[in-house]
Amino acid sequence: MTTMDELSLKNPDALINAEALINVIKSCVPSIPNPRNLCNIDAEALYLGIRHATYGKDIEHSHKCTKCEEVSSYNIDIDYLLNKFPSFDAVPMIEHDGMKIFLRPLSIESMTKVSLVELEQTKIIRSIRQTVENDETDEETLAKKYYNSFLKIAQYNVNLLAEAINYIETDEGTKVEDKAYINEFIDNVPSTIVDMINTEVKKLSIKPLDLSDFEFVCPECGNKDKTSVEVNPVNFSEAG
Ligand SMILES: [Zn+2]
Repeated sequence: MTTMDELSLKNPDALINAEALINVIKSCVPSIPNPRNLCNIDAEALYLGIRHATYGKDIEHSHKCTKCEEVSSYNIDIDYLLNKFPSFDAVPMIEHDGMKIFLRPLSIESMTKVSLVELEQTKIIRSIRQTVENDETDEETLAKKYYNSFLKIAQYNVNLLAEAINYIETDEGTKVEDKAYINEFIDNVPSTIVDMINTEVKKLSIKPLDLSDFEFVCPECGNKDKTSVEVNPVNFSEAG
């Protein structure tokens, strides 16, 4: 990692939108033309590989014992973590109306958009609750006020879902990759199919639990703490 990479890893704004991770991969693995298109699991595995190459196989982690409150440092073995990463042999496929919908994991860029959309939804719901609590307006006015926001979010969700579709095979066996076609397809597909796509795509971006669940044994009192540590640039930038 260059100094610039390390600085960008320490900028919280850059971290939140995954820009830092993308830049580190760009600079350290230039053979990947567009890291934005990597899925989150691949990007995180790459990050661990880069850390391994730069600082060695151990990541130091401080943990405070929940029993005696002693703070101790522990080593997390990157090789151990990398062996736990899942690998996919088959691309999930959903059949609908004679067509075959082939999925792919969401890219880091799309996952960032998902977080932003979720944040926006939470903000709107909070705002609606406040308006209702203050009894400021009736339901019709509320519905009008938030109609456009919900429409925007719904459109975002459709676009994101379309990005999770690799291609569609028509009943005649033609392979369609065209984004506009896929967007239109999603717009008109029954909600049961939308739910199926959502469920399958989520499965593709979930990391196994033991990648983040660790047991720390306190050297002072022998107490065992089970805790979750996300090994990513957000949590380990200061260690680098
Ligand atoms: Zn202890």
